[in-house]
Amino acid sequence: MSLIVTGSIGIDTIETPDGQKADSVLGGSSIYFAAAASYFGDVRLVGAVGEDFPEAFVGDFKHFDVDTTGLEVRKGSKTFRWHGKYLENMNDRETISVDLNVLAEDLPPVPDGYKDSQYIFLANTHPAGQMALLENFPNRKLVVADTMDLWINTEKAVLTDLLRQIDGLVLNDSEAELLTGESNVIVAADKIVAMGPKFVVVKKGAHGAILRHDDGVCALPAYPARKVIDPTGAGDSFAGGMMGYLASADDISYATLCKAMAYGTVVASFNIEDFSLGRLKTLEKAELDQRYAEFTAMLNV
Ligand code: AMP
Repeated sequence: MSLIVTGSIGIDTIETPDGQKADSVLGGSSIYFAAAASYFGDVRLVGAVGEDFPEAFVGDFKHFDVDTTGLEVRKGSKTFRWHGKYLENMNDRETISVDLNVLAEDLPPVPDGYKDSQYIFLANTHPAGQMALLENFPNRKLVVADTMDLWINTEKAVLTDLLRQIDGLVLNDSEAELLTGESNVIVAADKIVAMGPKFVVVKKGAHGAILRHDDGVCALPAYPARKVIDPTGAGDSFAGGMMGYLASADDISYATLCKAMAYGTVVASFNIEDFSLGRLKTLEKAELDQRYAEFTAMLNV
């Protein structure tokens, strides 16, 4: 499989309503994505960090066997930083501060060895960076993007261009409403499909996710998780599980997409059991497969 991702690579500070705080931990959309996708096969990463990126984070990430040839430590630049605080419901959050830093600069060049990539995921980052990456892959089979409120509010024109060039969009329910002005998720998804992508996956936090595709609609609950320590990266690890499975199956049919969403749901349910990549670092593929079997058995009503 040839799966590639770009997105943010960051230093996060996260506060949860029970008073816990994780200060300056490894985060970023492409980090969660790549770690999750690595359970299904090889993953290539393109992105930049600044000189302040802790060496220990590189070591943490090595565990996942992600190809980091496309990772640049940029001299004179600073790493993207995000500070978020979750509300009582552990779903909604406010951004206390965001420093784009290197995320506002050009993407590093795509290594030649990456150019045969067929499955492309444009994780949440500046839409100009998402667009720049996309142009490098003449053999692309499936391009899926994620976005968020910041980019919908500040970069709508570039984002609108991007929507015409991708096959799928993954975003959460409040972002779908912000993008379309429609609070009904499936109607919002219809409107997004009219803007370009062939399918849309709307994530609804603890309430699961819904796929709107020309061949059907697939609605999945979230895994009924008893342990929720930090929801950060749930969306990205969901997308990583989903894209990782699709690339490993090398099939982009509606039926495979539904199955891929179930894998995404299960990986995300592990990710939220600890801060940063804490839980994924200890997760074995056998545990993942076991929970997948439990989850799909639960759906068989
Ligand atoms: P998620 O919880 O799946 O939405 O992703 C959380 C991750 O997204 C955190 O690790 C942040 O570093 C990263 N993040 C937060 N804001 C942005 C942004 N505006 N652009 C890109 N990544 C972001």
